[in-house]
Parts: sequence; structure tokens; C-alpha cells
Amino acid sequence: MAARDDRALSGEDRLIAKYFRPLARHPGALGLGDDAAFITPAPGTDMVLKTDAIIGGVHFFPDDPADAVARKALRVNLSDLAAKGATPLGFLLSLALPKDIDEDWIAAFARGLAEDAERYACPLFGGDTDRTPGPATISIAAFGSVPEGTMVLRGGAMVGDIIVVTGSIGDAALGLKLRSGAQWKLDRVQREHLLSRYLLPQPRNALSEALRTNANAAMDVSDGLAGDLAKLCAASDVAAEIEVARVPLSDAAKAVLADNPNLMETVLTGGDDYEIVCAVSPGKLSAFFAAAQAAHVPVTEIGKVVAGEGAHFRAADGKKLTFAHASYSHF
Ligand code: ADP
Ligand code: MG
Repeated sequence: MAARDDRALSGEDRLIAKYFRPLARHPGALGLGDDAAFITPAPGTDMVLKTDAIIGGVHFFPDDPADAVARKALRVNLSDLAAKGATPLGFLLSLALPKDIDEDWIAAFARGLAEDAERYACPLFGGDTDRTPGPATISIAAFGSVPEGTMVLRGGAMVGDIIVVTGSIGDAALGLKLRSGAQWKLDRVQREHLLSRYLLPQPRNALSEALRTNANAAMDVSDGLAGDLAKLCAASDVAAEIEVARVPLSDAAKAVLADNPNLMETVLTGGDDYEIVCAVSPGKLSAFFAAAQAAHVPVTEIGKVVAGEGAHFRAADGKKLTFAHASYSHF
């Protein structure tokens, strides 16, 4: 819609044209100038579809920087595409914004969104914009593609598979506690690490192809490792035995746990990790680790798939950990 005269537009249309049209690079987005957009899937591919919303006061603090809010909204969706082995194609954006959000906020929001749309090669295809009497709600629907029939499922884990997790676990849950006033002995770098892990997920899209070619099952860890792994086990009709001592922790998380060992439950069940947990057959493990290394994604073996039910976490002394709530739940 290059020829459109923005001065003739309503307030809402002017904002969309000014801030969001530059992100709509795909020709099928029609410059956000039509009622809908279109996309032609490549022959022999499946589209992978996902939506996730983030809500002020629930998933982010209303005073978080707008660019970080935008990036988080996109990244929580990208994380699911990564876990399914999908390459991002694009996304739709539905905004419900309270009255006190001004144009500066929208400009910063669009700037953060543009950066990540570029970084993850995931352009904007359209959306909806409304005012709300409630908190800011940013709902994104992202779509990706995989070769036909190759989306990585939760339900494919097999007895004997190795359980692998990316990155480090628990940082974001500890970061949220820190943000909410927890007092721990940490240096500045450690504090910043935990806070930034809550503010801005680092989705593992670099690993998607390695997952597609090597993993029997995978899911993104967004509601806590313990609960999410239990969901993967249930879908696969298997159990998992995890050695807690092998769960990868950042230096900052180790420092917190050294003084507060009871927070291990928060680390394993807290959520917002946006890492990936997957099940890989032993014969593919070295190929998977090599592919992960080539993709610069740290991966750690934490346990194995066995017959039975549930995800079981054992301490170094062999004792089984029990959790009050294995995963974060809104209800
Ligand atoms: P409708 O009247 O059908 O609801 P809109 O006026 O909401 O249409 O939207 C007009 C165009 O602007 C559409 O192409 C829509 O996809 C796009 N759009 C609206 N809001 C956004 C947004 N927040 N981000 C991206 N595109 C948007
Ligand atoms: Mg609309």
C-alpha cells in the first residue's frame, strides 16, 4: 500500500501504517492494507500453527520496557515452533491496549517487534488492534513449516530414549522472584542474568532442524521442567527418570541454591524457561549433540525414558523429589 496517503487515515489505521506496516515484508501481507493476508505453503510442507498471549500483570510487569514486551510476545510463540522442529514463516498480532498506553509505547513496542521479526526471519502478516478496560494483552499467532509429516510431537518418546534439555533451567523463575523482591547474595552479573532470563526468553530456534532429524519427541519448557516433562511422558505413554544433579543450572542459579536449597522446587517447576526438553534414541545421540554444537545451543543429558507413568526426579542420594505443584497453572 505504498501509495496510501496516511493523512487520510483514522488514528488506528495511521498507527498500524506507521509502526506495523514496515514489519509486513512478505508480499502476501499486502502491506497490511487488506482484510486478510495469504501465504502459499511450499509443496511437500506442513504448516505448524501456534498461538500464545501475554497479559500485563500476568506474564509481564506493566512497567517492563515496551520493546521487551513485544519481543517476549513473539518469542514465546517462536519457542513452540522451535520445539516442533518448524522454521518460522510469519505471525499475526492482536493487541488489546489500555488507554494509558501512548504512542511512544507503541513506537518502542514496534521497534522491539521489528528487531525480532528480522532476527528470526518471521514477518508480520496482520493483526487486530483494540482498546481494553483491562491490562495490556498481546496475542500472537505464529506459523512455521516443516517437511510434510515431520513435526516433532510430544507423543513420540520411546523406552530407552535419552532425555536432553537445552540451556539452563530455573533462571526465569528465580528472576521473577528477584524482581518481586527476593533478597539473595548475588553479584551484579548474576542478578542481571536472572532478571534478563525472565524479561526476555531466548527461544531455541537454531535447534529446530536438529530436533526434526534426531528427536523422537520434544516440547518447549514454559510451565516448569517437571510438569512439562510429565506432559511429554503422558503423551508418549512412558515415564522419565531424571537425575536432579544433572539438570543444567546457570552460575547465578547455583549461587541462589547454595544458600537456599529449598528453591530447587522453584527451579524445576517454576516456568518461563523457554528451553526445550526432548527424547532422543541412544543411536542418534551423538549426531544430535554434534548438530546442537554446530547450532551453538548447549544441550545436557539429564535422564532416560523408562516404562511407566510420570516424570520422576531423583536427588544424588537416590531419594525421589516430590513437588507441591509440578508445573505452573493459571487455574
Ligand atoms: P477489520 O476492520 O477487518 O477488523 P482492521 O481495521 O482491524 O480490519 O485491520 C486492517 C488491517 O490492518 C488488516 O490488514 C489487519 O491485519 C491490519 N492490522 C490491524 N491491527 C494490526 C496489528 N496490531 N498488527 C498488524 N496488523 C494489524
Ligand atoms: Mg480489526
